Amino acid sequence: MTYDSDALNASIKAAIAEANDDLRALSMSIHGKPELAWEEHHAHDVLTAYMEKQEGFVVERKICQLDTAWRASFGSEGPLIGFCSEMDALPGIGHACGHNLIAIAGCAAAIGVARALREHKLPGRVVLLGTPAEESGGGKCLMLERGAFDGMDACLMVHPGPRGNGAAAMTSTCRTGVTVAYSGRSAHAGGAPEKGINALDAAVQGYVNVSTLRQQLPTTTRVHGIIAGGEHWAPNAIPASSKLLYGIRAPSAKDLAPLVPRVLACFASGALATGCTYTTEGQHLYLELQQNSGLSGVFKSFSEGEWGDEGYEVPAGMTTTASTDFGNVSYHVPALHPMFLLPSASPEDFPHSSSFADAASTPSAHQAALRAAEGIAVAGLRVVVDESFRNQIRKEWEADMAASGAEEAIKQIREALPATGEPVKGGFCSCDH
Ligand SMILES: [Zn+2]
Ligand SMILES: [Zn+2]
Repeated sequence: MTYDSDALNASIKAAIAEANDDLRALSMSIHGKPELAWEEHHAHDVLTAYMEKQEGFVVERKICQLDTAWRASFGSEGPLIGFCSEMDALPGIGHACGHNLIAIAGCAAAIGVARALREHKLPGRVVLLGTPAEESGGGKCLMLERGAFDGMDACLMVHPGPRGNGAAAMTSTCRTGVTVAYSGRSAHAGGAPEKGINALDAAVQGYVNVSTLRQQLPTTTRVHGIIAGGEHWAPNAIPASSKLLYGIRAPSAKDLAPLVPRVLACFASGALATGCTYTTEGQHLYLELQQNSGLSGVFKSFSEGEWGDEGYEVPAGMTTTASTDFGNVSYHVPALHPMFLLPSASPEDFPHSSSFADAASTPSAHQAALRAAEGIAVAGLRVVVDESFRNQIRKEWEADMAASGAEEAIKQIREALPATGEPVKGGFCSCDH
């Protein structure tokens, strides 16, 4: 297929420029009504209503048996490019991860590619997925299992970051989470404490064990958590139940696999010391991002050509210790998840802070989001129109998959910490409680 990349890019830019005001209104509407994971009903409704008005798009609501997931599809034949619009916010601090910007950037990219294909009469398909519950719940993990990403030749999305930390292909960490539930026996804390089995003590021991372990862990890992269950406690009664909620992160699945049993041993030890029984239940595994270098190269060269050097270069070894369920998408198809800088954020305004939520609503943040959207639209369109590029990124992806060692690591992690079904029972006490 022959194509004129300047003319195609001009179509993308024109479409996004025309959509600017509507996208700004959408972004502010979502920002002004922050919704937590799985509750993104307002965002679902306004985004699907908007995409339904775009020429050539067919919209499906509540897909994948998820109330807030959606799909907008364009085209009927040819290569398929995917984009994602995240929507969820954080408890108490609103859109502190800037997902209002991600939502409209996904729309902008999809509209831009569709316009270019239509104007230049080129075959090709676009799918924009509304992906709920990134902050917790693994929305993309479920949508992957239910086939939403199948058949894509590549998938792209963007994410805002603080000034000076932007990059075209910065990786993220591999993460899982665990809920530990301790069970003991209640008793009068003054009258008969010897009859009790103290579940709060088990949680405290587990917590302290992890803190002790942390000194011996590589600095690239993160093990972080809280003690929960306090609504059932009173100072004059031995607590009979408690919970630990933890996140466990490492640079890759391969690095995470040996870490998980070490952390679980800390929790088991809390049960052993106190005589409690306990269960563990794993959360979705967010795999580390496999950023496709071919896609990243197109994004970076286009963005630098248009906007100058805004930190798109990734210093060797640079990573973030945050995680995303888009990492799992990058294990399914060639993918790119560039960060873009929010000019209104200071280097201290890292995502998940209230100041970052403020920065995500500024006009300059909006402009930055649409610039990033142009970048992924240009890279995505290249996948559609350029067969040799499509083959190149596929080969790179296959090599990345082979080098990741993730398959065996995932098996080990899941054996140690199953994510679904019955919680795994543990406990060392041989008496009958
Ligand atoms: Zn976040
Ligand atoms: Zn985020």
